[in-house]
Amino acid sequence: MGRNKFKAPKGTRDILPEEAKKREYIEEIAKEIFQLYNYQPIITPLFEKTELFIRGIGESTDIVQKEMYTFQDKKGRSLTLRPEGTASIVRAFLEHNFNQKPFPLKLFYIGPMYRFERPQAGRSREFWQIGAEAIGSIEPAIDAEIICLMIEYLTRLGLKDFTLLLNSMGCPKCRLSFIKVLEKYLHPFKGELCPDCVRRLSTNLLRIYDCKNKNCLKILRQGPIISHFLCEECLSHFKELQALLTQEGIHFQIEPFLARGLDYYTKTTFEVRSPYLGAQNAIGGGGRYDGLIEELGGDSTPGIGFAIGVERLLLHAEVEKIKIPQAAKPKVFIGLVERDLKREAFKILQDLRDASISAEMDFLGRSLKSQIRLADKLGVSFVLFIGPDEMEKGVVKVRDMESGLEEEIKKDNLIFSLKKKLSVKDGGNNES
Ligand SMILES: [Zn+2]
Ligand SMILES: [Zn+2]
Repeated sequence: MGRNKFKAPKGTRDILPEEAKKREYIEEIAKEIFQLYNYQPIITPLFEKTELFIRGIGESTDIVQKEMYTFQDKKGRSLTLRPEGTASIVRAFLEHNFNQKPFPLKLFYIGPMYRFERPQAGRSREFWQIGAEAIGSIEPAIDAEIICLMIEYLTRLGLKDFTLLLNSMGCPKCRLSFIKVLEKYLHPFKGELCPDCVRRLSTNLLRIYDCKNKNCLKILRQGPIISHFLCEECLSHFKELQALLTQEGIHFQIEPFLARGLDYYTKTTFEVRSPYLGAQNAIGGGGRYDGLIEELGGDSTPGIGFAIGVERLLLHAEVEKIKIPQAAKPKVFIGLVERDLKREAFKILQDLRDASISAEMDFLGRSLKSQIRLADKLGVSFVLFIGPDEMEKGVVKVRDMESGLEEEIKKDNLIFSLKKKLSVKDGGNNES
């Protein structure tokens, strides 16, 4: 039997400390921005009743048709690992009578999602999303807020090379006339479309937009454009949103074929694309879902949201050489000169931590020489030597690892003195 019998399931992976620290950082920045915009955190279960996603995302979408992790529990109930965040949040919104709260209700989430797809760069079966939803307003200003929030987040992280695409998918009213025209246009091409699209012709025409087949796309791009069919309300909403984004200096491109693969989108859809991610080039995106809450059994309530793919964001950030601050290292190492003083050393270690000074010591009975080697590797600023001579004098020998200088500090004064030394170091070298 091999020693590595168990591996992470296909399409999943372990996020090791180095990457986990990066994620902590990007989550931290996200939370700062969400707070700035008054979005509150929400955590929903990793799985839901399958029916929720079928109804919410749409029976004929690729997600529901091909990509869901659906299983039966021991009582025979069909459950599905959440493939996206919005349906769950709307379910929670209805379950907790959030419609009593002042609108718009603004929420954000950070967590893993699951889709059964062919794993490739930027696409795994377990992936994380950072997302936000604003429920209860039909104003274009809330569309603008959601988009500004997303762009400001990416900008704060230091991203520059991305493109914001914008479209309006209209409402059920204006979509009706568009679908008729699109149907008429596509009918003569029936023999040239891929089998998926032929199926879409009779099930859900708009999902043709999700097709990746070059030939289908070519046919589609020469056909009618939904934004030419917008009703008065949808058109003025779209125009106002563009005016607001322009006012805020947000650059965007109108992309008339941007549908984003979900049935629930109405009016605004948007996507941020990266030039560095190959086929999986969307860092994130979102849209308005004015019909979703009603579809899931609530009163007609509008909503809009976005989600950013954390893995893709990190891949992109790497190409742009975005500086993500290094994990904090311990500042102080306790060097044990004599084994007998282990207890004393442990006490000083804990005293330092009580005083919020991150500290480390040896736990393997290393020689003093290899303790110092370890301290060097950890990158601490100071090593404290706990030896019998020092103990007798009531002092601790402190070595500045940068300069190599050593001095004796009275034990009573140790914390105060170390804090002072550390703050001088922090002040003098902020770029670390
Ligand atoms: Zn409309
Ligand atoms: Zn197709």
